[in-house]
Amino acid sequence: MYENSMEKSLWQEVMATAGVLILAIVVGMFVMNRQKATVMEPLEVHHHAGFQIYENNVLEDFSRLEYMENAPCKPGTTEPEEHTDETVDMHNGVGDVVHVHHADMTWRNVIEYLQERGGLSAHFGDPRFGVPLTGFVNNEEVADILSYPIKSYDSVVMVYGNLGADYMSKLKKAVTVGHIQEAEAQKENCGL
Ligand SMILES: [Zn+2]
Repeated sequence: MYENSMEKSLWQEVMATAGVLILAIVVGMFVMNRQKATVMEPLEVHHHAGFQIYENNVLEDFSRLEYMENAPCKPGTTEPEEHTDETVDMHNGVGDVVHVHHADMTWRNVIEYLQERGGLSAHFGDPRFGVPLTGFVNNEEVADILSYPIKSYDSVVMVYGNLGADYMSKLKKAVTVGHIQEAEAQKENCGL
């Protein structure tokens, strides 16, 4: 009787230890997987959208070199020399297609990218200045374009200033999906 219960408690101890070990392994695998996913995420996101920005009724041109993120290839390879830290950027002298490299990017990130390069005034879109900003996504007006997520192949038109009656003619000239696809097919920047 006594021996039996000793055996039983030893068995319980072995089972409990095994249980703790298995739990530790499962938790460890889960944590490692999560860390891996967090590290990999920025590299996995890569999509493109078109945009046009009108300020004072004039279409802005962002095709100059200062708006481009240059990521030269490692010699003889198609690997980027160093990974870009930009969340969104532009390549190959194409001034109306944005490359999105991180998750959860909105059109505010595009405006900030252009502001950092002197392409737009610091108060662009700031409601405190009382200048209206109207945003269209695929010809549909949206309430708050700066908070709107950048989605693959979307074509955005922003009008900063009075919208005017002729805004339909602006929408007709919006970036096409075909143009976005042409831009993303360019590999001069190691596929970025
Ligand atoms: Zn790209």
